[in-house]
Amino acid sequence: MARPAKTRKNFEISAPNRIISPDMLRHIEETEIDLPRIGPLPVRLRPSARATRLKLRIDPAFDGVEVIVPDGISRKVALSMLSQHSDWIAAHISRLPDRVHFVPGAWVPFLGQDHAIRTVPDAKRGVWADSGVIWVSGQPEHSGRRVADWLKKQAKLEIAPRAHAYAGRIGKKISRISIKDTKSRWGSCSSGGNLAFSWRLVLAPEDVLDYVVAHEVAHLAELNHSPRFWKVVDDLYGPSTKQQFWLKKHGASLHRYGVGS
Ligand SMILES: [Zn+2]
Repeated sequence: MARPAKTRKNFEISAPNRIISPDMLRHIEETEIDLPRIGPLPVRLRPSARATRLKLRIDPAFDGVEVIVPDGISRKVALSMLSQHSDWIAAHISRLPDRVHFVPGAWVPFLGQDHAIRTVPDAKRGVWADSGVIWVSGQPEHSGRRVADWLKKQAKLEIAPRAHAYAGRIGKKISRISIKDTKSRWGSCSSGGNLAFSWRLVLAPEDVLDYVVAHEVAHLAELNHSPRFWKVVDDLYGPSTKQQFWLKKHGASLHRYGVGS
């Protein structure tokens, strides 16, 4: 779902003591920084004679973060500010509008594997995936919506049988499984036995999707995150540190796909 492009978030940090440094920034510089939870992120360092403070700004158009660097602050100090505020950056980057639209030629990670979207207007098969391609029949202008609907359907097809199988193993029944477009959670479980999942899990590697399913099903037995809950997850799924780490590091990127406007 595209969000209104309202964000131009600012974050100001008092400038540390100014030191005239040989490392001083003279021109706009574009680089990349590797941040925890985010991965490689484009960074633009913009020197400013007027600025009195270092300022971080998420720039949706640039798809990264811009740093306003007052005179006398070295690029090293500016870059270290980014690492110190990576949680803030991660939170805002994850709320950026969709960047990858489901248009012909776009690459989409279906079950974690890159797939290119291609149209076959004359085909009668709807949408299907084959050898790294998501084929879409019908008029190209409708392909985005059709791919999105198809991905949501695939999410349900991947998630529901796994959920029922896991629930069977712990002797629980699922009342209902719904597929949603949640921003903050990959899945949820209600006390009434209703499970909900983000359709975007179908963009994640299969083992990550599988882990989230096991996690939510385990909540049918333990509606908390106690050691007893994690014991159920371990029994159902096995060790899940790797999958949890994947979600922390790459989860936000799954929110960047969508139909577009
Ligand atoms: Zn949980």
